[in-house]
Amino acid sequence: MRIARAIRPEMEGDEGRALFERIGAFLLDQRLAPTPTNYAFVHRLFTEPEDALARAVELITERGVRITPRDIQTLSADHSPEDPSDGHADLKARTEGLVARTQMQVEGFADMVTAMRAETADFGRDLAASAEAMTTGGDVPQANDDVVRITAAMLDRIRVAEEKLESTTREANDLREKLEEARDNARRDPLTQLPNRRAFEEAFAAQEAAGGSMCIAVCDIDHFKSVNDRFGHAVGDRVLRVIADALSLCCRGHLVTRYGGEEFAILFTNVPLDQARAVLEHARGTVQAKRYKLRDNDAPLGEITFSAGLTPVEPGEMHQTAFHRADRLLYLAKHEGRNQVKIGSASYSEFRR
Ligand code: GH3
Ligand code: MG
Ligand code: MG
Repeated sequence: MRIARAIRPEMEGDEGRALFERIGAFLLDQRLAPTPTNYAFVHRLFTEPEDALARAVELITERGVRITPRDIQTLSADHSPEDPSDGHADLKARTEGLVARTQMQVEGFADMVTAMRAETADFGRDLAASAEAMTTGGDVPQANDDVVRITAAMLDRIRVAEEKLESTTREANDLREKLEEARDNARRDPLTQLPNRRAFEEAFAAQEAAGGSMCIAVCDIDHFKSVNDRFGHAVGDRVLRVIADALSLCCRGHLVTRYGGEEFAILFTNVPLDQARAVLEHARGTVQAKRYKLRDNDAPLGEITFSAGLTPVEPGEMHQTAFHRADRLLYLAKHEGRNQVKIGSASYSEFRR
């Protein structure tokens, strides 16, 4: 065991041993296999306890619920450090650029107004002096000339200011459009054009603030990996688009989002659970009934289905808690044969351990 000897100095010391034991105890307690993935996940929980990941796990486990390998997979993906090469970082950089430009424009606008006010004050003072000269019997022709000269200069300045104002307004409108576009892009999935996870979370928060009722559904395409494996990623992408359209259509009036990968989350607001269930069952039937074909030769892709978990949100309940329950119900639906919708509320104990 040359490796064990080599790393021993680092492992020695109470701190290292205590950490190792805590990780082991957690894995055992949660009935998780000591795989590298699970170990690394738990290591992160104990070494970064203030991290959002640790808080999310705390939320799941606080009522005695165990985390599953699937939870580890989704939580790790959700809380992975931001990759600077990904689209989000790019979008963030572009948005920051726009914000900086807007700020510069606002500052430039403020400078322009200050300069105009100073000039107006100067012109006012000169005009007042000329008027005074006329009324008090001073050099009237000279005062007249002065008024003409001051007025011409003023008109000239006004024309320049108007031109500047016009171009500034044009740029402001351009910036406003770009900012709106960036705001929209940040909330939309480019592949399916559906709102994304961020939009879902914002809608949840808005509905919560408004005090309305909510149900959450998490839908996941069944055996989607095999679609990619058999027909290629491009076909998989097209299937995702078709399903996104079908879900949007069947769940019209509700917020259908692409939450990530081949997972869609739907937010039903102000509708009873039974109604949400009926809508979702209709969507499930519609997706199953579709005849998917290859573009090139019309060869059938076979049946494509999805499984879903549906749950009502308790008043005051956090988004993560309700979403996690829906996700567990989805897991149950997968476990019980897929192509089905599982429903449960917070008091429903079938999926709690
Ligand atoms: P299950 O029924 O258990 O959900 O099985 P599954 O095969 O759907 O689940 P798994 O998690 O094993 O695989 C999900 C696949 O979804 C793997 C991944 O490549 C694919 N996927 C995720 N996002 C996209 C995407 O944007 N385009 C394509 N083509 N595939 C995607
Ligand atoms: Mg999935
Ligand atoms: Mg799937």
